[in-house]
Amino acid sequence: MTARAGRFPLLRLVPDGASAGRRWRDDAACVGVDPDAFYPADMAQADQVEPVRRVCRGCPVRAECLAEVMATEEPTRRWGVIAGTTPSERRLLHRAGLTVTAPGSAGGDAA
Ligand code: SF4
Repeated sequence: MTARAGRFPLLRLVPDGASAGRRWRDDAACVGVDPDAFYPADMAQADQVEPVRRVCRGCPVRAECLAEVMATEEPTRRWGVIAGTTPSERRLLHRAGLTVTAPGSAGGDAA
Protein backbone atom coordinates (compact mmCIF):
# COMPACT_ATOMS: atom_id res chain seq x y z
CA MET A 1 0.00 0.00 0.00
CA THR A 2 1.31 3.42 -0.85
CA ALA A 3 1.26 6.35 1.51
CA ARG A 4 -1.22 8.06 -0.83
CA ALA A 5 -3.65 5.14 -0.75
CA GLY A 6 -3.59 5.17 3.05
CA ARG A 7 -4.85 8.76 3.16
CA PHE A 8 -8.11 8.02 1.38
CA PRO A 9 -11.05 5.90 2.44
CA LEU A 10 -11.61 2.71 0.53
CA LEU A 11 -14.70 3.00 -1.62
CA ARG A 12 -16.44 0.02 -3.08
CA LEU A 13 -18.95 -0.08 -5.87
CA VAL A 14 -21.38 -2.96 -5.67
CA PRO A 15 -23.86 -3.24 -8.51
CA ASP A 16 -27.12 -4.58 -7.10
CA GLY A 17 -26.94 -7.71 -9.20
CA ALA A 18 -30.36 -7.19 -10.73
CA SER A 19 -28.76 -7.19 -14.14
CA ALA A 20 -26.35 -10.06 -13.44
CA GLY A 21 -26.48 -12.71 -16.07
CA ARG A 22 -28.09 -10.51 -18.67
CA ARG A 23 -26.91 -7.87 -21.04
CA TRP A 24 -27.20 -4.73 -18.94
CA ARG A 25 -26.42 -2.53 -21.93
CA ASP A 26 -29.84 -3.39 -23.32
CA ASP A 27 -31.34 -1.30 -20.51
CA ALA A 28 -28.96 1.64 -20.90
CA ALA A 29 -30.56 5.05 -21.15
CA CYS A 30 -28.04 6.00 -23.82
CA VAL A 31 -29.34 3.46 -26.31
CA GLY A 32 -30.30 5.52 -29.31
CA VAL A 33 -28.51 8.66 -28.10
CA ASP A 34 -25.83 10.04 -30.40
CA PRO A 35 -22.58 8.50 -29.06
CA ASP A 36 -20.65 11.62 -30.03
CA ALA A 37 -22.59 13.53 -27.37
CA PHE A 38 -20.70 11.52 -24.72
CA TYR A 39 -17.38 12.80 -26.04
CA PRO A 40 -17.62 16.59 -25.69
CA ALA A 41 -14.87 18.63 -27.26
CA ASP A 42 -14.36 20.50 -23.99
CA MET A 43 -15.08 18.74 -20.70
CA ALA A 44 -14.83 22.07 -18.91
CA GLN A 45 -17.91 23.37 -20.71
CA ALA A 46 -21.00 22.55 -18.65
CA ASP A 47 -23.29 23.08 -21.62
CA GLN A 48 -21.49 20.22 -23.39
CA VAL A 49 -21.25 17.88 -20.41
CA GLU A 50 -24.54 18.42 -18.56
CA PRO A 51 -26.87 17.07 -21.26
CA VAL A 52 -25.20 13.65 -21.19
CA ARG A 53 -24.88 13.69 -17.39
CA ARG A 54 -28.67 14.04 -17.35
CA VAL A 55 -29.01 10.95 -19.52
CA CYS A 56 -26.78 8.99 -17.14
CA ARG A 57 -28.57 10.25 -14.02
CA GLY A 58 -31.73 8.56 -15.21
CA CYS A 59 -30.02 5.38 -16.33
CA PRO A 60 -31.11 2.18 -14.54
CA VAL A 61 -27.74 0.50 -15.16
CA ARG A 62 -25.48 3.35 -14.11
CA ALA A 63 -23.81 1.27 -11.36
CA GLU A 64 -23.00 -1.51 -13.79
CA CYS A 65 -21.68 1.01 -16.28
CA LEU A 66 -19.46 2.72 -13.70
CA ALA A 67 -18.26 -0.63 -12.40
CA GLU A 68 -17.20 -1.69 -15.85
CA VAL A 69 -15.40 1.50 -16.75
CA MET A 70 -13.61 1.60 -13.40
CA ALA A 71 -12.48 -1.98 -13.90
CA THR A 72 -11.40 -1.71 -17.50
CA GLU A 73 -10.42 1.85 -18.35
CA GLU A 74 -6.71 2.43 -18.79
CA PRO A 75 -5.50 5.32 -16.62
CA THR A 76 -3.70 6.92 -19.55
CA ARG A 77 -6.67 6.63 -21.87
CA ARG A 78 -9.71 8.08 -20.17
CA TRP A 79 -12.21 9.58 -22.60
CA GLY A 80 -15.74 10.77 -22.54
CA VAL A 81 -18.58 11.04 -20.10
CA ILE A 82 -19.29 7.52 -18.84
CA ALA A 83 -21.78 6.70 -16.11
CA GLY A 84 -22.19 10.43 -15.66
CA THR A 85 -18.55 10.95 -14.80
CA THR A 86 -15.85 12.84 -16.64
CA PRO A 87 -12.34 11.45 -17.10
CA SER A 88 -10.99 13.68 -14.33
CA GLU A 89 -13.73 12.51 -11.95
CA ARG A 90 -12.89 8.87 -12.70
CA ARG A 91 -9.24 9.65 -12.09
CA LEU A 92 -10.20 10.95 -8.65
CA LEU A 93 -12.26 7.83 -7.96
CA HIS A 94 -9.25 5.68 -8.83
CA ARG A 95 -7.02 7.75 -6.58
CA ALA A 96 -9.58 7.47 -3.78
CA GLY A 97 -9.30 3.72 -4.01
CA LEU A 98 -12.64 2.80 -5.55
CA THR A 99 -12.77 -0.92 -6.12
CA VAL A 100 -15.43 -2.95 -7.84
CA THR A 101 -17.04 -5.82 -6.02
CA ALA A 102 -18.99 -8.48 -7.84
CA PRO A 103 -22.72 -8.66 -7.10
CA GLY A 104 -23.46 -10.95 -4.19
CA SER A 105 -20.29 -10.13 -2.29
CA ALA A 106 -20.71 -9.10 1.32
CA GLY A 107 -20.95 -5.47 2.37
CA GLY A 108 -19.94 -2.30 0.59
CA ASP A 109 -21.47 0.99 -0.33
CA ALA A 110 -22.50 1.89 -3.81
CA ALA A 111 -20.77 4.95 -5.21
S1 SF4 B 1 -24.73 5.34 -17.17
FE1 SF4 B 1 -24.71 6.70 -18.96
S2 SF4 B 1 -23.07 5.93 -20.30
FE2 SF4 B 1 -23.56 4.33 -18.79
S3 SF4 B 1 -25.03 3.00 -19.81
FE3 SF4 B 1 -26.18 4.50 -18.63
S4 SF4 B 1 -26.62 6.20 -20.01
FE4 SF4 B 1 -25.01 4.96 -20.95
